[in-house]
Amino acid sequence: MKEPLCPRCKIRTDLIKESETLSSGEKVVRYFYKCPVCGTRINISNLLLKHDKDSIVIEKSV
Ligand SMILES: [Zn+2]
Repeated sequence: MKEPLCPRCKIRTDLIKESETLSSGEKVVRYFYKCPVCGTRINISNLLLKHDKDSIVIEKSV
């Protein structure tokens, strides 16, 4: 995967994975690129993980 360039600084961005557990028990995982200099974020995808009995359902929302 090739990192996109920051639209402001024209330098390579870092791939960041961030996860957050909601009060409902669902988990949100966000993938995005972040510029190490100016902090500009380029969203890739957001995944919503739901616990359904014994399985985990992944709902992709962008
Ligand atoms: Zn930048």
